[in-house]
Amino acid sequence: MKHSIPVDKLGPAGSLMSEAIQSCVHCGFCLPTCPTYSELAQEMDSPRGRIILMKEALEGKLPTEQVLPYIDRCLGCLACETSCPSGVEYRNLLGPFREKAETESKRSVAEKLKRKALLTILPWPGRFRIAAKVGMLARPFGRLLPDLVRSMLALLPKTLPSGIMLPEVAKPMGTPRARVALLVGCAQQVMDPQINDDTIAVLVRNGVEVLIPRGQTCCGALGWHVGAGEHARRFARKNLEAFPRDVDAILTNAAGCGSGLKEYPLILKGSAEESASKSFAGKVVDFGEFLDQLGMVTPPRTKGVPRVVYQDACHLRHAQGVTEAPRRLLRAIPGLELLEAEEPDICCGSAGSYNIDQPKIAADLGKRKVSNLLKTKPDWIVSGNIGCIMQVRSCMNGSGQTPQVVHLAGLLRRAYEEDL
Ligand code: SF4
Ligand code: SF4
Repeated sequence: MKHSIPVDKLGPAGSLMSEAIQSCVHCGFCLPTCPTYSELAQEMDSPRGRIILMKEALEGKLPTEQVLPYIDRCLGCLACETSCPSGVEYRNLLGPFREKAETESKRSVAEKLKRKALLTILPWPGRFRIAAKVGMLARPFGRLLPDLVRSMLALLPKTLPSGIMLPEVAKPMGTPRARVALLVGCAQQVMDPQINDDTIAVLVRNGVEVLIPRGQTCCGALGWHVGAGEHARRFARKNLEAFPRDVDAILTNAAGCGSGLKEYPLILKGSAEESASKSFAGKVVDFGEFLDQLGMVTPPRTKGVPRVVYQDACHLRHAQGVTEAPRRLLRAIPGLELLEAEEPDICCGSAGSYNIDQPKIAADLGKRKVSNLLKTKPDWIVSGNIGCIMQVRSCMNGSGQTPQVVHLAGLLRRAYEEDL
């Protein structure tokens, strides 16, 4: 695509942005795989349309404010990257464009306040827990509340689980096979703290020593996805300091966080930490992928024949290319029946703060995902991302079916404890 983008004026990621634009040949293969195009049927809500809009804005031919609504509706799910035969690295354009647009364009006061509130609360588990408790008290007045608060409340569980204290080091069972450092996430610690406990238990069972660095913080992905570059960089720098490198891997058990950590070289491009961010990102591995590579200790045979469907998180499937590893782990549980749902490529509508920013599209995608999953008649729905788990649980309300929705680590732990 010909362009006259002033690359040198676009900041450190200018050349990557330009490369992404230039490599798009407008073939349109990505259109059917894009959830927003599929829901809204508008070219400008497709990857191809958005690339053109961003190009025009960067060239100064379109005002950024005019382009922003289409970019705001992008989930950042990266299904377009998976389906693109030309290898367009859409993420290299989207993140830096959002940061640039946020500094240059005007948003309404309400919109600014919403963003500020999200970034001030969600990345800190203590603050998030207090906000969630206050929100729960307000539930009976749901109809009177602003849309933003209502969409946040819809995602919260009926009761907030108690927090779980995690050790600083968890020693492996049997002969040590590996040593890892685990990112425990921020929202995850409030919404479903059991996930970290299960992750550690499964790793320990597999001979893995798990370090939980105390100085760690939010991965920064939430800020990066809404164009708050400095906010994301602050978190990235803290994690670069907090995580040891003398480990076999830096593990994440939330797809969005894993993909966020792997984007540190982009987030910190041109900074003094760019080189450190590359070696850090090179060590980041998803929990399921790590266990698959290590070779999982086979759990005992299940009592019955549990029917399990795996729900792919986009930030595993598209952003990290992890599709088979979690399925292999599930198939390795003797007695378990693994099911496949239709449209595994399509996002469930939970993408960072998307169900708060774009509640209508998020709800429609959520219903579509749940309908596809329930068609398989599962006993269990398994995913590798807290956002997807909360979204599927919330959209399943009222469906009449009651499969349990759990993290992969939760199901594996039950298998080891002969509770399946
Ligand atoms: S990231 Fe997802 S929503 Fe955004 S353009 Fe690509 S496929 Fe569409
Ligand atoms: S598939 Fe790739 S090259 Fe084709 S329009 Fe989409 S982004 Fe551009």
